[in-house]
Amino acid sequence: MDNKVLIISAPSGAGKSTLISHLLMQFPNLEFSISATSRSPRGAEVDGQDYYFLSQDEFGKRASNGDFIEWEEVYNGRCYGTLKAEIERIWAKNNVVVFDVDVVGGTNIKKLFPGNSLSIFIDPPSVEHLRERLIGRNTDSIEEINKRIFKAEEELAFRPHFDIVIVNDDLFKAKDEIKNVVAKFIDE
Ligand code: ADP
Ligand code: 5GP
Repeated sequence: MDNKVLIISAPSGAGKSTLISHLLMQFPNLEFSISATSRSPRGAEVDGQDYYFLSQDEFGKRASNGDFIEWEEVYNGRCYGTLKAEIERIWAKNNVVVFDVDVVGGTNIKKLFPGNSLSIFIDPPSVEHLRERLIGRNTDSIEEINKRIFKAEEELAFRPHFDIVIVNDDLFKAKDEIKNVVAKFIDE
């Protein structure tokens, strides 16, 4: 298999993590790209599993070293990025890399791997649904949720930059739809 990458992007709360977990259960040769971040762990998050948690200082040093394929300050003072070593680790096992990245990161990664990638935008039914989902997820403060909602309108405008848009209204349908497009991509 060629070195392939699957990019999943959306505003926070649209359902990326939920749909990615579903895909990882369906396809054993998909492997999640663990990003580095300068934000603190939340809930039951584990270092080296959900993220590589770095201090702001360490993140900055790795960025100046050129260790990232892309990185971004997604929220004020909070950086997220993909380490080159992470992709090499996954490709060395002949697995397909799965990215959960914000819409700017997703568009940039697509440009880096134009011929061997599939980029999917997860579209929420509305911004109000995003708010309800983020409140229901119970992992972020109201202040944090407001920051994410504030950014969402701008992020939704990135839809046309993606290969495929999947509306995540009925979760059952969205899971089925994403499973079918990913199965086709893996088999190509
Ligand atoms: P993201 O990773 O994009 O931030 P999550 O996958 O964490 O989003 O989903 C946000 C919340 O919304 C979670 O609590 C999840 O269980 C819930 N959720 C996901 N998809 C749906 C859906 N189609 N309908 C209702 N709730 C959903
Ligand atoms: P969270 O704090 O909810 O885990 O993630 C915040 C946002 O950062 C999400 O939109 C997530 O997709 C994005 N993100 C996570 N890792 C990366 C990365 O490596 N690069 C970029 N550009 N965004 C990322």
